[in-house]
Amino acid sequence: MPDASTSTVAPAPAAGRSAAAAQRLRVGQFLLASVLMGAHVVFVISIGTWTEVPAVPLWSWAAVTVATYVAFYVALRSGWSERLRDPSMTQHQVVASLVFAGVSYLFLGPVRGLLPGAMLVVVCFGMFKLRVRTVLGVALLGWLVLAAAVGLHLALAPPPVDPTLDLAHLFAAFVMFMAVGLLAGRLSRIRARLTAQREQLNEALARIEALAHRDALTGLFNRRFADEVLLQAVQRQRRQPHPPLCVAIVDLDHFKRVNDRHGHAVGDAVLCAFAKVGLATLRNTDTLARWGGEEFLLILQASDLMAAELALERLRTAVAAQPLALDGGDTLPYAFSAGLTAWRPGDALAHLLERADRALYQAKAEGRNRVVTL
Ligand code: GH3
Ligand code: MG
Ligand code: MG
Repeated sequence: MPDASTSTVAPAPAAGRSAAAAQRLRVGQFLLASVLMGAHVVFVISIGTWTEVPAVPLWSWAAVTVATYVAFYVALRSGWSERLRDPSMTQHQVVASLVFAGVSYLFLGPVRGLLPGAMLVVVCFGMFKLRVRTVLGVALLGWLVLAAAVGLHLALAPPPVDPTLDLAHLFAAFVMFMAVGLLAGRLSRIRARLTAQREQLNEALARIEALAHRDALTGLFNRRFADEVLLQAVQRQRRQPHPPLCVAIVDLDHFKRVNDRHGHAVGDAVLCAFAKVGLATLRNTDTLARWGGEEFLLILQASDLMAAELALERLRTAVAAQPLALDGGDTLPYAFSAGLTAWRPGDALAHLLERADRALYQAKAEGRNRVVTL
């Protein structure tokens, strides 16, 4: 449906996601990460219990992990995180997950070789949201935590200690984490290109819309757009006659003289000046369009005839008070005549316009610079 506002600015591209939708998305993403972390905690406790890991460190690790995730949930859900630069707290979540996962190397006994793969999944989570440097940084941090856990594991292991497998895990983790960090770079370049393309597309759409709906000289809506607005307004009136609909054809007086005496460029400037005064004077719900040449169509929705007459008189006074400033300091007064009418039951669009035209003709015949209502 056409936008019936009188603003000369093309409507902005569709507004971004609402804050509530963004918040839902953040909480949803967090819940997905929590399910994965929850599964990891259950897995670690099961393996740890089965391999007879001492209960205190195992359960302390699980308790701190779960408490941290609950704290994240509260921060996101309560809206507290909105005061942060990244309200999704992605970086915090990735760092915490890598630290907790890294420490769990100590509790996984014979299946600890699975951990670098699990930590890789955490790094991948950051890939979509964080900048390359940050991804590489958190990946390195995760690897250092893992390295510390590996060191502690080897230090605590009963002799004879064979570090081959653990060092191999550490090596594999380093290669995988850095590879994902570098892939994140490619991903972020693709993302930047897509964002730029989307912005260009939005600008192009706004330009196309302006071309299709706007008059190039005055910036007002053009006749094609006014026709659409009017047709819809009349159809609405047929279904629902209240509030009333008024239409006025506005025609600048003796405009040919302006062109003849001052030149076409000054004539153009008068048209623009009228458009500017019209936009400043009329309500946002009124539609002012260039109907052709020095004629304008004013559609007043939700105005009865009395209110519409007042609006046009206000416009007439405003135009009289603001003559066009000419080069050299002179001013050029101008005026308009208007034919005003209200929609009546049974009116087709053509009837409405024909009556407004007749009213305009009468206004001209009665001496111009006036509003006639029929
Ligand atoms: P009236 O008071 O009876 O309306 O007289 P008028 O001179 O305004 O009416 P007429 O229809 O004789 O002349 C309209 C003039 O508007 C003729 C045309 O050259 C001029 N005109 C139409 N479009 C433009 C435009 O875009 N720029 C300029 N400068 N003049 C235009
Ligand atoms: Mg005319
Ligand atoms: Mg005229």
